[in-house]
Amino acid sequence: MTEFMEADFVEVTVDPAGVRHLPGTSIEIVRHPKFARAPDHALFDFDGTLSLIREGWPDIMVPLMVDVLVDTQTDESVPQLEQVVRQFVAELTGKQTIYQMIRLVEEVTRRGGRPRDPQHYKQAYVDRLSAHIAARRTALERGQLAPEELMVPDSLPLLQALRDRGVQLYLASGTDEADVREEVRLLQLADFFGPRVHGAIADYKSFSKEKVIGQILREHQLQGERLLGFGDGFVEIQNVKSVGGTAVGVASDEQGRSGKADAWKRDRLLGAGADLLIPDYQEHQALLDFIWNAHATP
Ligand SMILES: [Mg+2]
Repeated sequence: MTEFMEADFVEVTVDPAGVRHLPGTSIEIVRHPKFARAPDHALFDFDGTLSLIREGWPDIMVPLMVDVLVDTQTDESVPQLEQVVRQFVAELTGKQTIYQMIRLVEEVTRRGGRPRDPQHYKQAYVDRLSAHIAARRTALERGQLAPEELMVPDSLPLLQALRDRGVQLYLASGTDEADVREEVRLLQLADFFGPRVHGAIADYKSFSKEKVIGQILREHQLQGERLLGFGDGFVEIQNVKSVGGTAVGVASDEQGRSGKADAWKRDRLLGAGADLLIPDYQEHQALLDFIWNAHATP
């Protein structure tokens, strides 16, 4: 694997019998965090972890890719192609969008087709998705929708509680940085993150969540254990774990905002090595008390 590539999903073995609930909550403890010092830096993924503005994006990406594969004159039926596409799109979720398009190019080639450039497919997707979410962005802009309605439940109180504990907050997203910044503004989260908002850039090899984490640790001369990570995808969980941080997997139900964990995400986050699993932030007080107490108990 070349050095710049974002890592693929690597499953961690977890004994399901060892996973328990924090009493009286829906918070699942996979590994009891232990640290000499409480975390004072927290990294957030954006889409699905805080923002729901892009909720429904797979239903834009998957049909677009299926159309491209149908054009290769493959013998596979549309439902078969849909299954193939859903699988690899899901596997790559959390990495920059371009990686899903690189994979599409490989799938076209494999079927004897002549693929376009990954960037071409990415642009087609971004254009369709932008049309899909334009109404949400406009409604936020005009105040017809409250930011809370397009966020994972209790995101705001969680961010406030972290800030009250003196935690510096960072965002790292696989979505294009200009869009992330705009959506941070629309959700009125800019105050929490200031300039610490990172997203995909045209030169995709120069960005990864891993690189952002490396920068944070270097800049503040931190040990990884002082880093707390929140994410609904495998990339940020794996990256935070690999430097020795504590990873909170957010198995958010983006469509229903039901307060119940999304089963697919939960399994995936467990497999990615999350220390704690939550459906959203409605029990953020119990969550933070638990993490900060883990620091106090030797
Ligand atoms: Mg996400």
